[in-house]
Amino acid sequence: AKSNGRNNYQFFTADMNARASERLSLETSMRDALSRGEFEVFFQPQVGLEHGQIIGAEALVRWNHPTQGLVAPSKFIPIAEESRMIVPLGNWVLRRSCELAAQWQREGLPPITIAVNLSPLQLHQSNLLDLIQDALDTAGLDAKYLELEVTESVVMQEVEHVMAMLHGIKQLGVKLSLDDFGTGYSSLSYLKRFAFNKLKVDQSFVRDISSDANDAAIVLAIIGLGKTLGMSVLAEGVETDLQLEFLRRAQTDSIQGYLYSKPLPSDAFRLLMLENRPL
Ligand code: C2E
Ligand code: CA
Ligand code: CA
Ligand code: CA
Repeated sequence: AKSNGRNNYQFFTADMNARASERLSLETSMRDALSRGEFEVFFQPQVGLEHGQIIGAEALVRWNHPTQGLVAPSKFIPIAEESRMIVPLGNWVLRRSCELAAQWQREGLPPITIAVNLSPLQLHQSNLLDLIQDALDTAGLDAKYLELEVTESVVMQEVEHVMAMLHGIKQLGVKLSLDDFGTGYSSLSYLKRFAFNKLKVDQSFVRDISSDANDAAIVLAIIGLGKTLGMSVLAEGVETDLQLEFLRRAQTDSIQGYLYSKPLPSDAFRLLMLENRPL
């Protein structure tokens, strides 16, 4: 067993090296990927439970890597955060999303709200409010159709600065939602300090609502809390009719998940809106 230990160690380091070099190669190729047009924004519908219609869409970035194919966000977003590439990338996603939303409205499609993820590093740009206003002006999109999603981790750091920025965003007329709710820390104290328009219940709580009494209780509590504080509540990761039934009974305002649609390329999302299929 002792002699094996050494071999295991070698396998382990070989694996670590492979991962580290994959990481490095992704980081290097990400630098030029933006200018080469390798990123694309996909859209996943958000459906209101009252009428069963698409009321919004979350913008989710995709990377069409020239040799590795489609790279998942779970692989490159963390690298983009560490290398600060998330700042130019996130700003590009914001501009592109506003542009497409305005274009769809000009084509006569029913106006919807576009939700764009905002990373903690983006929130620390001193000119963020100007960047948002410029993205709206350039696209010709009314601020009320833009929503920015922040996670609880954002609100954790440099509270004063973050609060000031969130208030500034709200004053532009842009909406704010608290993403992945329930997975971070100190959620409750921030709910008291800032009036988010929407709470997004994390998919980890939604997954087993129809079988796990604890998850069901947590989701009911989050929905009640959100409503009491005057927020709209959206459940993420809804995949089954059973989950939908539970969420309907619990008076969730809207849902997002594979049950209605996966995130789609912009053209396919546009067709889905035209189709106007009820949930
Ligand atoms: P997120 O913001 O929580 O986005 C929701 C994720 O759940 C998306 O994964 C979406 O495809 C996935 N999802 C939606 N419905 C279902 C479902 O019914 N079942 C399951 N199992 N999954 C579902 P995606 O697109 O892979 O993105 C992963 C994460 O990457 C996002 O989590 C977000 O944190 C980050 N991300 C994606 N695009 C951006 C971006 O433009 N900027 C920033 N800062 N982060 C982004
Ligand atoms: Ca999100
Ligand atoms: Ca989320
Ligand atoms: Ca998430």
